[in-house]
Formats: sequence, structure tokens, C-alpha cells
Amino acid sequence: MELTSRQQQIIEIVKENGPITGENIATKLDLTRATLRPDLSILTMAGFLDARPRVGYFVTGKTGTELFTEKLKKLKVKHYQSVPIVINENESVYDAISTIFLEDVGTLFVVDQSSNLTGVVSRKDLLRASMGNQDLNNLAVHIIMTRMPNITICNKEDLLIDAARLLIEKQIDSLPVVNTKNGAMQVVGRITKTNMTKVFVELTSEGMV
Ligand code: ADP
Repeated sequence: MELTSRQQQIIEIVKENGPITGENIATKLDLTRATLRPDLSILTMAGFLDARPRVGYFVTGKTGTELFTEKLKKLKVKHYQSVPIVINENESVYDAISTIFLEDVGTLFVVDQSSNLTGVVSRKDLLRASMGNQDLNNLAVHIIMTRMPNITICNKEDLLIDAARLLIEKQIDSLPVVNTKNGAMQVVGRITKTNMTKVFVELTSEGMV
């Protein structure tokens, strides 16, 4: 995170004099306590400083990188997941291609009659199926999908960084977010490379990088 020169000055003062009250920091900088308040709250929220009532401010000793990692490890799948787009396994490949265009997604999660996850179809799966001389209206999605138990999944409580690792390791574009009950998996969301890109941009605009 990019600190202003005044914020850097505050950290230096607290490093040398902490614990020190807001009032005393203000005096050292020849500013009023009110002018200083936003800077003190930014530094406290970002984790550079900590404050104890009636004692004052002191430095936490954490570096920017440590604070960034801490913040990253608080981000969970449930905070960033998108709505999953699913298709029944008996629908045709033609319908799957239409759904991909209509819903503007790259991957469909395939479910059975009870809405349990049975597979995944991606753009390339559909392209591959389209290259043969098959009637796409009479070819069911379950014939061409990647099927359970080979589906990589995640849960809504998982760390976003772990989901990102899975996308890279398995070389896939998306993960179904599932809720497992009695061994059956209900699809409750999806995490894609686009979600990850959004987080990257969001952290930058929050001044964390
Ligand atoms: P694309 O095929 O459009 O490049 P992916 O890289 O996501 O998209 O898919 C590559 C292959 O991995 C496809 O055969 C697809 O069915 C499969 N796949 C996609 N997502 C998953 C997943 N979460 N778990 C297991 N296999 C997947």
C-alpha cells in the first residue's frame, strides 16, 4: 500500500515514541488531532499501527507484504463466487452451446434430475464434439462431459487463494462451488479466472498493492 509522506512521518514518530497518544502525535506534527484522525484510522485499519485505550498508538511491526498476505488469507470463495450456470445431463450438446452463448459463460456445470453435480462441459469439449459428424441435437451432454469423480470442486468457506491454486494446478477455467449433503453435491456457485482478476483489480484500488 502506498503511504502518504504524512502517514510515513506518523509511523516514524510512533516507532520512536510509542506508545504515544494521538494528541501528542498531532503536537509533534504541528497539526490538530482532528486533521490527523483520518490518517490514524487508515494506518490502524491497514495494520501498521495499533491503539490501546488510555495508552496510545504503537507500531505492530508488520511489513506491507505481511499485511497484504494477511488480507489475502481472509478472502473466501463465498465473498466472490458468481451464479452457477447449470444444464441437465440429458440436454443436447446443441442446447449446451446455445446456453453458453445466452448466459455468456465459458463452462457449464452438468446436473442430474435431483440437481446433483455429475460433470462439467467447457468450450473446448463442445468444440471437440462439434468437429465430428454427429447430430448435436441427438448427442447428450453426459456423453461428452468431464464426469465425477474427476471434477475439481470447492466449498464456499474455502480460501479464495486455495481456489486460485486449484485453477492453476488443474489448468481449468472454473470451479463449481458445492454444498455436499449425504455424498451428493449441489452446485451453489462458480469461481472463475474472471473472479480472480476482479479481486486483483479490487485489491489494487483499495491501495493494498
Ligand atoms: P476450455 O476447455 O474451454 O479451455 P477449461 O480449461 O476449463 O476450458 O477445460 C479444460 C478441460 O477440463 C475440459 O475438458 C473440461 O471439461 C475440464 N474441466 C473444466 N473445469 C473442470 C473442473 N472444475 N473439474 C474437472 N474438469 C474440469
